[in-house]
Amino acid sequence: MARGTAARESAVHEGILRRQSARESAARTYARALPIVPVRARGLTIEGADGRRYLDCLSGAGTLALGHNHPVVLEAIRKVLDSGAPLHVLDLATPVKDAFTTELFRTLPRALADRARIQFCGPAGTDAVEAALKLVRTATGRPGLLAFTGAYHGMTAGALEASSGAQDVRVARLPYPQDYRCPFGIGGPRGAELGARWTESLLDDTKSGVPRPAGMILEPVQGEGGVIPAPDTWLRRMRAITESRSIPLIADEVQTGVGRTGAFWAVEHSGVVPDVMVLSKAIGGSLPLAVIVYRDDLDVWGPGAHAGTFRGNQLAMAAGTATLAHVRENGLAQRAGELGARMIGQLQSLAKEHPCIGDVRGRGLMIGVELVDPEGSTQASSGPDPTGGATDFSADPLLGGPTAAPLPAAPELAAAVRDACLDRGLIVELGGRHSSVVRLLPPLTITDEQAAAVIDRLADALAAVARTHRG
Ligand code: PMP
Repeated sequence: MARGTAARESAVHEGILRRQSARESAARTYARALPIVPVRARGLTIEGADGRRYLDCLSGAGTLALGHNHPVVLEAIRKVLDSGAPLHVLDLATPVKDAFTTELFRTLPRALADRARIQFCGPAGTDAVEAALKLVRTATGRPGLLAFTGAYHGMTAGALEASSGAQDVRVARLPYPQDYRCPFGIGGPRGAELGARWTESLLDDTKSGVPRPAGMILEPVQGEGGVIPAPDTWLRRMRAITESRSIPLIADEVQTGVGRTGAFWAVEHSGVVPDVMVLSKAIGGSLPLAVIVYRDDLDVWGPGAHAGTFRGNQLAMAAGTATLAHVRENGLAQRAGELGARMIGQLQSLAKEHPCIGDVRGRGLMIGVELVDPEGSTQASSGPDPTGGATDFSADPLLGGPTAAPLPAAPELAAAVRDACLDRGLIVELGGRHSSVVRLLPPLTITDEQAAAVIDRLADALAAVARTHRG
C-alpha cells in the first residue's frame, strides 16, 4: 500500500473515532472497547478504515450465523430489492413473510411447530421478550415471573426486570446451575439438582412468599451471564416442574438459536419443548428481526396487544429465510457442535499452562474463558469468612466431597486479554458476572484454518498478558 494512502486511511479512521466519542452517548458500549471503524467485511473478516483486518469472533453479539455478507444473504436481499416489493408493510401478509414463517416453522421442535403461532415483534430481542411476558401474563392471569441468577433478556422495562441486574417484586430469582461458581459450592449434577429442588420448594411451599407465576423464562445457555450452559437434565427438570404446575416455560433463544450451540435450537439438546420461544439475532440474517413462537392455546390476547410500527422488515425476513435454510441444508449446527467441542478442548489444554484461566466452558460455538486472579484467595470472591472456616461446607461428604473453589474473577486481566487480542487482529468481547469472561461467538461458517488462527491469536494474547501480570 502506498504510504500516502495509508496515512489518509489512518486520518479518516482517527477522525471518525474522535467524532464518535465527541457526539455519541455515554451509554455506548462495544464502541468503547473496540476502536474499529469497519468499512468492509466478509465471513469472519472485518476490514477497518485504517486498512487493518480482524477476525471477528463477536459476530454482532452472536447475530451473524453465516458471518458478514454471506452470498446467500446478499442474494436474498437483492432479490427483494429488485422485485419492487414494498419495504415497509406494518404486519401485513407478504410472500416474503410467508416464506420466512414456513422456513422458521420447519426448524422448530415438531411438537411446537404443529401447534405454533408466531407474533412478529419490534425489531429487537428485548421487544420479543416483552411480548412473551405479556403473552403468558394474559394467558394465565397471573403477574409473577420466575427468572434466574445471571440472566440477560434485554434492556426494555420488562426484559430488564427479568434480567439479573434488576430487583423487581414481581420476579422471583432462582439459582441457575453452574459448575465453576456453583451457588451451593459443589457444581456438577448435584449442584444443578439442589437448584431444581429449591425451585420446586419455592413453588410448593405455601409460605415461600412466591405466588404461582405467569411463567418461567430461561436461557438454555446463558450468554451475557458468562457463557454458562444449563445441563440437559436440569432443563428437563425445569420443564417437568413447570408443566406439572401449569406454568408456561419461555425459552429465550435470542443468542443460542440457529445452530449456535450445536443443535438448531439449544432446547433440542435436552428434548425439552417450551411453551414459548423468543427468537431474534441470527433469525434476521444480520438485519433486525424478532419474533415469539408459542403454543396456540396461549393465543388469547387481543388484537393490538403487542403492536409496533416496525414489524414487517422485508429485507430482514428474506435474509433470515436464506440464513435459516442455509444452516439447515448444510448441517451447520452439527458443524458448530463438533468444531466448538474441539476449540473448547484446545482452550482447556491452554488453561493448564495458564493459572489465570479459571474455567473454559461453552456449547458449540458459544465459548467462554473465565479469567481469574491466580494469586487470589479462593474465598476472596465472597469476602472474608467471619466464621474463620467453621461454615465451609465444601468438604462435607454429604455434599459430594471437596471441590476446587473458584478463584476471584479478574476483570482487569480479561480486559487486557481482549485488548491484546485486538492488537493481534482478533475481535472478542467480555461477559459474565464480573466482566471477566472472554467470549467467542464466531460465525458457524468458520473454517478449520480460521478456527486455528483464532486459537493461536488468543493463546498468544493470553501468554503476553500472563507474562506482564507475573511482572
Ligand atoms: N435475550 C438474550 C438471551 C440476549 O442475549 C439478548 C441480547 N444480547 C437479548 C435477549 C436482547 O436482545 P436485543 O439486544 O436485540 O434487544
